[in-house]
Amino acid sequence: MIKIDGLVKSYGHLPVLRGVDLHIEAGEFVTLVGANGAGKTTLLRVVATLLRPTAGKVSIGGWPLPTHAEKVRRHIGLVSHHALLYGDLSAAENLHFFARLFGLDRREERVESALKQVGLAARQRDPVRTFSRGMTQRLTIARATLHEPDVLLFDEPYTGLDQEASALLDDLLRHQAAQGRTILMITHDLVHGLNLADRVAILDRGKIAAVATGREMEPAAFLRLYTDVTRRKRDR
Ligand code: ATP
Repeated sequence: MIKIDGLVKSYGHLPVLRGVDLHIEAGEFVTLVGANGAGKTTLLRVVATLLRPTAGKVSIGGWPLPTHAEKVRRHIGLVSHHALLYGDLSAAENLHFFARLFGLDRREERVESALKQVGLAARQRDPVRTFSRGMTQRLTIARATLHEPDVLLFDEPYTGLDQEASALLDDLLRHQAAQGRTILMITHDLVHGLNLADRVAILDRGKIAAVATGREMEPAAFLRLYTDVTRRKRDR
């Protein structure tokens, strides 16, 4: 579903991604981990069609990017550091706006169910500018999944969420994975990322340094691998 081959991305003369190879099958859940500045967000933004590759090949569902960015976009749901919400509109109005933008049918039903899923039904009529950070994050997740995209891209989605919201997100991710969605998620919570995913990829200085199996791997073994891979590179 997501094919990344020899991806290079530079900002000016600074190469941030230096030949990333990663293939993610349809229905697979991959977690991407790595140190600050490793290039995780850059990689996710290329896949989300928001950045153009400097070199290499990226395709989603067989459509090469950036040529088919427009087509691919409606099959993607993105949760990033930018909420992409309108502060003066209520939570429900925001979701209705996106539902219209995507030309969705059964809008009332979808919006109501999305708000319930993230535990925001009681606050649906309040303007989003009055929301706390965690509430905004919950609504961002509802917006990203509203159009039932084939591919879900999450950049540190647990940031700002309380225990209840984290558990809701766990359920939502498991539900989305069970429905056959392809998921790529960045997180700094190694153990959490490991528990949810089929595979965990470690990005180190712009390259995939290792890929481990997800749920089946013992957290301690994964932490050893992560430390080994990132330290070995640093020692060079
Ligand atoms: P973190 O875990 O801190 O979120 P990350 O792995 O997501 O980090 P990126 O945000 O992809 O890392 O950044 C990788 C490198 O690219 C960093 O050195 C960063 O300063 C640089 N970078 C990111 N965006 C830009 C930009 N728009 N212009 C110039 N440099 C950038």
